Amino acid sequence: MNTNRDALIHASRRKFIRQSGVALAALAFPLPIHTLFKKHEMKDSSHFDVIIVGGSYSGLAAGMALGRALRTVLIIDDHKPCNRQTPHSHNFITHDGKTPREISSLARHQVEAYPTVSFYDGLATGGTKTNAGFEIQIATGDTFSAGKLIFATGIRDIMPAIEGFAECWGISVLHCPYCHGYEVRNEKTGILGNGNAAYEFSILISNWTKDLTLFTNGPSSLNPEQTRKLESHKIQIVETAIEKLNHTNGQLESILFKDGHSSPLKALYAPRPFEQHCSIPEAMGCELNEDGYIKTDALQKTTVDGIYACGDNASRMRTVANAVSTGTTAGMLLNKEIVIEGF
Ligand SMILES: Cc1cc2nc3c(=O)[nH]c(=O)nc-3n(C[C@H](O)[C@H](O)[C@H](O)COP(=O)(O)OP(=O)(O)OC[C@H]3O[C@@H](n4cnc5c(N)ncnc54)[C@H](O)[C@@H]3O)c2cc1C
Repeated sequence: MNTNRDALIHASRRKFIRQSGVALAALAFPLPIHTLFKKHEMKDSSHFDVIIVGGSYSGLAAGMALGRALRTVLIIDDHKPCNRQTPHSHNFITHDGKTPREISSLARHQVEAYPTVSFYDGLATGGTKTNAGFEIQIATGDTFSAGKLIFATGIRDIMPAIEGFAECWGISVLHCPYCHGYEVRNEKTGILGNGNAAYEFSILISNWTKDLTLFTNGPSSLNPEQTRKLESHKIQIVETAIEKLNHTNGQLESILFKDGHSSPLKALYAPRPFEQHCSIPEAMGCELNEDGYIKTDALQKTTVDGIYACGDNASRMRTVANAVSTGTTAGMLLNKEIVIEGF
């Protein structure tokens, strides 16, 4: 029996029967179906110590910590991590330059090795507080329950209405110089933004290239001192409205303006506004901070008892390393909470 199949068995006996045809095996064997999978010692395959919604870097890290602490865990994931379009992930030690998928596949493979951890590949659609803990509803209509919850659901970047932008996102339109700046060092680079944030960002990016232009996509809101400072460092400010990004397979070639002229460009930094990828934490009462992240304390506890959050949804330090770090923290400290409650 392979681990994926094991995982589905943990997650939902009904779903497993539907998906793998074990219904036939069950008819052939006059044994209750759970005894076929006795090594997992699960009495009720829909109840877990902890449910983790989100099974990317932070959710898998939390799952590993909990699984190794002998907790029964269900990880629900619909496989839409925010970096899925980026060809290579950088700045995560031991995995520098790998594809995002390589990193998460290896992580999942390692977590799957723990029989205490189960997986459900699908979308969680709702959550409810119950007397015994929590229930999570799934798009298919299945429901799972657990004493505790972790949300490792990430954030979703909001794309601007500029043709070509979304196609280049994560490939040549970049959010972070620490992740991708080295690869486009000294190249002809733009920054899309305006005001104080764009000013600060321009100063930072000048570390990686001196061939830099700030595109404000409309009238600049920089103050005269900021304008003077950028110009003194030969950072051009272009206010012309942008029509589209010309690219081939996401590799930026030039930026076309509404006045018809264009400018060649190799990379464009464009930090984006974001929303929570998943609305369930907020619907369950988890407060967000003024920047839109789930409020957590240093132990990754949210404002709702029994619910933790980790990774991008609760932190502006948006890196795989931070997602793994906060996920591990959430898993370890939630386990400690369970141990103390039961002692
Ligand atoms: C374009 C881009 C490139 C990046 N490049 C780098 C890089 O090179 N190096 C680096 O260190 N960092 C990089 N990052 C940042 C890094 O990708 C994130 O910090 C990291 O992915 C956060 O991990 P996470 O587990 O918190 O969230 P995510 O990886 O976004 O995963 C969240 C998971 O939760 C699932 N989910 C959400 N809601 C539900 C639901 N209701 N039901 C089921 N599943 C759900 C999603 O499908 C997803 O699988 C990049 C980010 C972007 C956007």
